[in-house]
Amino acid sequence: MSKDLKPRTRAVHAGTRRSQYGEVSEAIFLTQGFVYESAEQAESRFIEAGPDEFIYARYGNPTVAMFEERIAALEGAEDAFATASGMAAVSGALSSMLKAGDHVVSARALFGSCLYVLEDILTRFGVEVTFVDGADLAQWEAAIRDDTAAVFFESISNPTLQVVDIASVSRLAHAKGARVLVDNVFATPVWSDAFAQGADVVIYSATKHIDGQGRALGGVILGTQEFIRKTVEPYMKHTGGSMSPFTAWVMLKGLETMDLRVRAQTANATAIAKALYGHDKLLQVIYPGLETHPQYDLVKAQMGEGGTVLSIDLKGGKEAAFRFLNAIEVGVISNNLGDAKTILTHPATTTHQRLPQDQKDALGITPGLVRISVGIEDEADLLADLEGALARS
Ligand SMILES: *Cc1c(COP(=O)(O)O)cnc(C)c1O
Repeated sequence: MSKDLKPRTRAVHAGTRRSQYGEVSEAIFLTQGFVYESAEQAESRFIEAGPDEFIYARYGNPTVAMFEERIAALEGAEDAFATASGMAAVSGALSSMLKAGDHVVSARALFGSCLYVLEDILTRFGVEVTFVDGADLAQWEAAIRDDTAAVFFESISNPTLQVVDIASVSRLAHAKGARVLVDNVFATPVWSDAFAQGADVVIYSATKHIDGQGRALGGVILGTQEFIRKTVEPYMKHTGGSMSPFTAWVMLKGLETMDLRVRAQTANATAIAKALYGHDKLLQVIYPGLETHPQYDLVKAQMGEGGTVLSIDLKGGKEAAFRFLNAIEVGVISNNLGDAKTILTHPATTTHQRLPQDQKDALGITPGLVRISVGIEDEADLLADLEGALARS
């Protein structure tokens, strides 16, 4: 495919491999293995498999390869490896490149499972991890050392929507020779161009906006061909975190409509954040696309738009938050995000329940905080739903 095509075109067409039947919709090659024409062919494929030659689905599969090529083209990355979940991508990217004695600097505001991988698993294998406030460049600068192998952060944190300055952190990391790994889920492939801003490795949970319709778990690691094929692939194919062909097909179809969905979700989120701002039942509305967000200038420069998720903090604490959630009629109470359906989450009692109180306080996860992943429903219906529930909170 021409490199000049725009992302929206690449997201629909890139990576397509048609079978002899010329199907329009991508085929699902639901097979673990592949038949060789001869013993010699099997032998040579095990020595080196060509780009269109497959051995076993844990190593690669035509449908999975289509997804990898499509998202790599969309992101402008050299290569991609698709994984069974977002966490297989996060843990695989880190574990494949780190060894005992390495030093990692990470933002503290992380998705719970990412925090567990960095704080509990990597350290068990002798990796030293320093946590910093991701929004404070002085802390990054102080923490990144000559022997730092990697820095890791979520470009927008969950659930308090703190934004990390990708370009500045990358400059600090690269000055010390450290690799920059960005979990870009909240920023979405539509609004974020993390590679252009300095990231070396970009990770997505495809479960979120890429599927976007709540069907399948998946993930992807994007980077240079050297990193993906020499570092990530050997680790993933031998440890078993590869994406299934069926999931790859779901994600391929998801990529085709992701841009439309994310734009519609973002427009709804922006309208809701503006409408709820200053509401007398709320302590605050947190949305990166609101001028009152403390990092609004960075958001404008780094993403242009505020994304699909906002958080609100109800004045009445947990009781008010629960009354609000239980009064919602259009949105659903769940913990996924990036979905076509509006999803509301109470982080303090669900996704972040196990965090000790001092860490909840430090991250701003208050008893009244509700995260809203805004869907593609009609804006007026969503506003009426949220305002009605607030009135009953
Ligand atoms: C959901 C999520 C993950 C994990 O993805 P799964 O597909 O659920 O394994 C990692 N990071 C962030 C920021 C997420 O939102």
